[in-house]
Parts: sequence; C-alpha cells; structure tokens
Amino acid sequence: TSFGFQQVKEEEKSKLVGNVFTNVASSYDVMNDVMSAGLHRLWKERLVGKLSPFAGMKHLDVAGGTGDVAFRIFDAVNSVKRRELRKVDEASLEETQIYVCDINPNMLNVGKQRAADRGLRDNKSLVWVEGDAEALSFDDNSMDGYTIAFGIRNVTHIEKALAEAYRYKYSHQLDFSLSECCILSQCLITLRVLKRGGRFLCLELSHVDIPVFKDLYDLYSFQVIPNLGELIAGDRDSYQYLVESVRRFPPQERFATMIADAGFEKVEYENLVGGVVAIHSAIKL
Ligand code: SAM
Repeated sequence: TSFGFQQVKEEEKSKLVGNVFTNVASSYDVMNDVMSAGLHRLWKERLVGKLSPFAGMKHLDVAGGTGDVAFRIFDAVNSVKRRELRKVDEASLEETQIYVCDINPNMLNVGKQRAADRGLRDNKSLVWVEGDAEALSFDDNSMDGYTIAFGIRNVTHIEKALAEAYRYKYSHQLDFSLSECCILSQCLITLRVLKRGGRFLCLELSHVDIPVFKDLYDLYSFQVIPNLGELIAGDRDSYQYLVESVRRFPPQERFATMIADAGFEKVEYENLVGGVVAIHSAIKL
C-alpha cells in the first residue's frame, strides 16, 4: 500500500537523520559557526530572549543536541539572579530544571562534555535525556516552556504519531499533506507536555522571499553548504540533506496556521535575516 511504502521511506529517513548527527556530532558546533558566520548565536539569543526564562521553571529543549539553547536558558536564569531583577531565592533557583532531549547520544555526549568544561557536570538544573521528540516520556501539563531549534524539520513520523495527526486532521476537517502531518503531530505532542500558560518557541531555517537575496541565498545553500560540509565535517551528503529538508519545510505563514490549528493561542512569528530563519512562538491557554 502507499501507506506501507511511506513507512519504509520514514524508517530510511530516521536512519539517515540518525547518521547525519552521528557523523557530524564532533564538528557540529564549528560547522554552525562557519555556515551561519556566527549568526546562529544571535538567533539563539533571540529565541531565549523571547522565552523570558525564570528561576524555578521546568523547561524542555527538544532536539537539544549539544546543549546550545539549554546553556543560554541556564545562563539567563542565573543572570537574572545575579542582577537581582527579580527577588530570586536560592531554593527556587535550584528547582530550575532544563531538560535537553535528543535522540542522538553522540550529540548529548558533546553537550555533557561542554557542561563539564563549564563546571556544570553535576549541576542538577541541566538534565540530559536521550529520547524521541515524537514519543516524549514527559508528563502531560508538566512544562513551563518548550523550545526546538533547528529540530522540527528533522522529526520523522512514526505510525502512532501519524495516526494521531490523521485523526486530528479528519475530526477537525483540516487540510494537511502527509508530510505536514508530522509537524502537526509534533505540535500536538508539544501541546500535551506544556502547562497552561506554557510557551512554545521554534527556531527554524525558513523561506526567503526577497527577490535578489533569495537567488543569492539559493546559490549559497545549494553550492556552498554541501562543499563546506565536505571540507569541514567530511560529510557532503548530510549537508545536502540539510539543504533539501529546508526547502520542504512549510513557509512561515503556513507553519503558523498549523500551530494554531493544533490548538495553540497567540501564534506569532518573526523573520530574521529576511526569512533565512524564523522564530515561531505560541502559548497554550
Ligand atoms: N538544537 C540544537 C542546536 O540548535 O544547536 C541542535 C540542532 S541539530 C540541527 C538537530 C538535532 O535534532 C540533532 O541533535 C538530532 O540528533 C536531533 N533529532 C533528530 N531527530 C530527532 C527526534 N526524533 N527526536 C529528538 N531529537 C532528534
């Protein structure tokens, strides 16, 4: 059946995504700096700024990789303390839990080593969890925040998640393609783990719509990035996959509609660098 065929393709995609990050884990952070000319640091700062982290929060960073976003949230929570903007007591600071969830142990190991290098090896606020974004083991209504940076594009839909998205699609008479269903199902899972009032923030490579800039960006994506991948990470295919997966991702407005259709409120997005990346945000009310 076509569904069976899709299954096989999805399994292949899971393996491919797994390999991509196993192959590049050790050079991942350097590659990010090179490919984005360091801009990914500013984008992540912006993401965390929009989150407004607070002491005592329970936060889940999905597809957290080497902890780049989690460290920034950790620093923000602790710097709020330093500046004493809020009267933060030691006890609530210690209650802060930032879960870094990633499917790939190699990426998490690089993150744990980075934590150790920062003297945070035994810090209880940073929790490293090997897990699948599509089958999160966290309780319903348990998180104040959920971030996913450069991750939602990679999630593949397992049968159960797909079924969930399909059921939703038909019961709400919504119009989603098969590949969009996996993004929808991720939004539904996110909605489940967030508390009421909890924030969803997604940073993702998106679509450029400015005429000449778009042509230059296409040239950079298709010609330069795979070559950089080969040169720095010794892995052309993984970076070719990256470029292609960006093209398949729904445009900003469409993704915003999908987040709202999944049941989120106050859905907004902000384009950075003309849409090279976008930050979508929403609240569970
Ligand atoms: N968020 C980090 C950052 O911005 O630096 C890492 C982003 S990296 C491009 C994508 C990450 O998604 C990888 O670490 C990969 O292992 C992870 N990933 C892919 N599929 C996943 C899944 N189904 N569940 C959880 N993590 C997944």
